[in-house]
Order: sequence, then structure tokens, then C-alpha cells
Amino acid sequence: LTARLQEPRLLREEAFVGGDWVQADGGARFEVTNPARGDVIASLPDLGRAEIARAIDAAHAAQPAWAARTAKERAQILRRWYDLLMLHQEDLAVLMTAEQGKPLTESRGEIAYGAGFIEWFGEEAKRLYGETIPGHQADKRITVIRQPIGVAASITPWNFPNAMIARKVAPALAAGCAFVARPSELTPLSALAMAWLAEEAGVPKGVFSVVTSTDAAGTGQEFCENPKVRKLSFTGSTEVGRILLRQGADQVMKMSMELGGNAPFLVFDDADLDAAVQGAIACKFRNAGQTCVCANRIYVQSGIYDAFAAKLKQAVEALRVGDGLEEGTDLGPLIEPKALDKVKDHLADALDRGASVLTGGQALEGQYFQPTIVTGATQAMKVAREETFGPFAPLFRFETEEEAVALANDTIFGLASYFYSKDVSRVTRVSEALEYGIVGINTGIISTEVAPFGGVKQSGLGREGSRHGIEEYVEMKYICLGL
Ligand code: ADP
Repeated sequence: LTARLQEPRLLREEAFVGGDWVQADGGARFEVTNPARGDVIASLPDLGRAEIARAIDAAHAAQPAWAARTAKERAQILRRWYDLLMLHQEDLAVLMTAEQGKPLTESRGEIAYGAGFIEWFGEEAKRLYGETIPGHQADKRITVIRQPIGVAASITPWNFPNAMIARKVAPALAAGCAFVARPSELTPLSALAMAWLAEEAGVPKGVFSVVTSTDAAGTGQEFCENPKVRKLSFTGSTEVGRILLRQGADQVMKMSMELGGNAPFLVFDDADLDAAVQGAIACKFRNAGQTCVCANRIYVQSGIYDAFAAKLKQAVEALRVGDGLEEGTDLGPLIEPKALDKVKDHLADALDRGASVLTGGQALEGQYFQPTIVTGATQAMKVAREETFGPFAPLFRFETEEEAVALANDTIFGLASYFYSKDVSRVTRVSEALEYGIVGINTGIISTEVAPFGGVKQSGLGREGSRHGIEEYVEMKYICLGL
């Protein structure tokens, strides 16, 4: 792998704690494998709670001086970090594909997307405005200032090894917080490469640490129980999100949660058929279906159902499955064998309950699964309730707009939703009626650092990106001055 890197030092085999590159106290290590081939690409220190507490201590010690810098100084460092990430975009993309499996083009896109948060929040640092409020008495003056919450920590998944961390660390550092990131043990290399570039960019010692550990639960406990941590930002399953919310309750910790989705994708009779097919491909099969905003349920109106199914089949059959490091690959492997089992389970359940395979349907050698479409999906199937997180597209049929909206909302989740229609009244009605934090209309791609990303219902708490994203890392202070 190092042979493919222009800057081999980006491949780190140490954790980054308090500004030092370290090993685990007892020397414990774990291996990182490439899901495309199953070969070991790196070995990393498996930190325990003591070392994680050390990263928190260092963050706690470094935070006041970081917060005391002017916003412009913090912004300049974030800008340098952004420039370095973009300078090394190709190497970072290679590292990401090697540990995560997604096609190189998608990895390059994610590096630019993640770096975009660092650029954006650096700029926002200078706009963390306060307020003055007309006093409630003649001799009172009221001001409101916004201050960094203190030490923030994150726990992130393997599907976007760079961007999920970038979305959190960027607003935290911009606001004047110090940050400890715990990447998924499946994809720690991207996070460590980010840390190495942060150091190069001039982020002071202790302000950003990356702790590598296979003990996710222990790390989560340390983050929730250590009184020096005032904020936890988590991206992952609703199940684990609930555990962390409960754990954080003991010290009334501020929490952000980006949890599971079960995105509906509605295609109305009046949709632009080709655009809808293209949108469905982008939204369903990106990252082999392993994103929390991937279409999970595709609802198609009766009049257009057969035509949509036929065109989607054609587009899906053109997708090339293979090693993400090879140019021309559209669909990489799934992250681990467990992920394949879930796809197989959802497919078997759908077939048991009356769906039929339109294309695909088979696991391939290694950790690959054919991009698959089934027709005749119904609400009774598992796929209607749970996120598949794989390249499996079930087509449901509906008759009326009311029915489509009711089916789309029939879930405990509320992250992303999508629909295709050219009727302006319908566009307005449906976008207002969908119980989701994000609605994509006539597009399958909605992620950007300039817009607020987040879910309603059991998909989460808080927003990431946009000027709202920094709110998660600041506290408001109301100052009342008596004259
Ligand atoms: P996914 O299905 O996306 O892997 P998970 O919620 O299982 O979602 O995992 C998201 C992240 O949370 C991963 O980095 C994982 O290691 C971590 N994690 C899993 N269980 C816990 C836990 N009990 N406490 C804290 N983090 C956890």
C-alpha cells in the first residue's frame, strides 16, 4: 500500500494522543484489512481506557489556550488543514479505498466533501456572533455570548471514514473546543492521516487526538463517564445511539446523534423517468448501498412502475462490481461478512413474502454482492422496517399521493427522503408532508457542507453542516448587567 502513496508518511501505524504518536501501554495491536481482498494492510495500537483518558486530559489541558486564540487564527489553521487535505487528496483516497472498499472516484469525492467541512467551519469561526437584547428594566443591559462547550468527543462508523469525522471536528475546532475522535476499528487509517495533516497544519498539541481501539463499548463509557468530556457526537446505529444517550444522562452531557435511516424514494407518474432512474442509481448504489441516506424503499406509482423497473434494471446491469482500487469500478465489496448476511436475509425474506428478483440476487466470491432489484415489495417485508445497508433495491407499487406519503412515513426513522415529480403543487405538498430531516426533490444526492444534515424521529438529534452545525459545540451565556 505504501508503494501507491506519494507521501508514505500518511499511512500511520500509531495512535495520535495529545500530539504524540503512541503505542498501547501493553503493546496490544489489531489489524486492518482490505475488504476487497481480505489482506492485512496495517496494524494499529489497541488502546485501553487509560490511554483514552490521557487523550481527554491532553484535550482538557490544551482547550483554554485554543479557545483564547482569535477566531481568525483558528480559521487560518483550519484553512491550512483544508489545503493539505486537498493537496493529498489522491493519497487519502487510496488509503480510504484500501480500508473501506468504495471505488476510488467515490473516495476522492469524500476527501473533497470532508475537507469542505473544514474549509466551511473555518470560515464560520469568524461569524460566531452574539446578541444584545433590550433590557427588561431601565437599569439593565443584556448580552448573549456563545462559548465553546469544552472537550468534545466523537464515535464514528466505517462507511465515511473521513467525512463523518470532518463534520464533527471542524465545527468543534472552529468554536474553540478540543476534540478526541474514535474512528471505527475497521477504518482508522483515514482518521490517522487526517490527524497527521492537522499536525502539519499547525493544530496545537492535544487539540485533536485520534484514539484507535477495538473496545468500542469501553471507549464509549470513557467518553460518557469522564467529567472532562462535555459533548459527544455519534454517528452510527439507532441501537448504539440509545445506549450512548443513556450513558451520557449521568453527567447530563450534550449529545449529537446521527442515527439510522430508512430512506423512501418516491417516483410519481409525472416524474422525468430518466432522471428518476439516474437518481435512484446514485442514491441506492453509492458506497454499495452502505450510507445512512441510501434509498432503502423505492415506491413507484402504478402508471410508471413497469417502465421505471425496466430502465432501472438496464442501469443496474451496467454497474461494474470489483476492487475499488481499479479504475472503472462502480461497486466495491461490502465492509464485512456480517453485512453480506444482512443483504441475504432481506432478500430471502422478500422472496418468501412474494417479491421476485428482477436482476442480481447472488453473493459473489469474497465480500461482494450483485446489485439487486426485486419487484412486488410490500410493507410486511423486513426491508420496509430495517435499513439493508447493501446493494438491494426493492420496488413497491402505489396508487395515490396520499398512500405514497403514508407509506413513506410508516417508519420510526426520519433522516433522508427523496421524490421525483414535475408538478409544482405536488412538490410543495409532499415535501411538507414527509416526516424527514432531509428531502431531496428530483435529485438523489443531497450531502453538502453548506446545508444542515440530520434526522427527526429516531434518526437523531442535532444537525451537522451549515451555520447550524457549530451550535452543537457552543453554549450560550446570557449576561445581565445592572447599571
Ligand atoms: P454500524 O452498523 O454503522 O457499524 P454501529 O452503531 O454498530 O453502526 O457502529 C457505529 C460505531 O459505534 C462504530 O465505530 C462502532 O465500533 C461503535 N460502537 C458499537 N457499539 C458501541 C458501544 N456500545 N458504545 C460506543 N460505541 C459503539
